[in-house]
Amino acid sequence: MPTSLTPPPRDDETECGNCGAYVYQGLMKCPNCGVYLVDPVDPEPEERPRVRPKSKLSLAIEAAMRKIRGEPHIAEELFTGAMREAVLFDDLLRKVGGDRSAVERLIEYERGQNPNATRLTCLQNAVRRWEQENR
Ligand SMILES: [Zn+2]
Repeated sequence: MPTSLTPPPRDDETECGNCGAYVYQGLMKCPNCGVYLVDPVDPEPEERPRVRPKSKLSLAIEAAMRKIRGEPHIAEELFTGAMREAVLFDDLLRKVGGDRSAVERLIEYERGQNPNATRLTCLQNAVRRWEQENR
């Protein structure tokens, strides 16, 4: 005669090999002790959050935090600035029909209007002016 008062596991239950608790068979982990009841096929999911590449949002937040702390990430700033310049240059180049010297003239014109402006600002102003004049 068994002396234990614990009833045997039901058909849909299994006994945890670690703590002995009766666990519903569909469960991956023992809710009592947390041990895996089946060999995990891929233990990675719990590891992933730590190695997952940072999202654009978290990168943006980091960049904003660096700005607040006065630590701009120089390389990143230069990179995004150069990217935006290239995009605006291509945009303007398309507008003027592929004439690079025309784009440079437009940039020089904007620089004449605002000598302290960066090339990026000149490009932005040139695009804006072109759009105003060619609606
Ligand atoms: Zn257990």
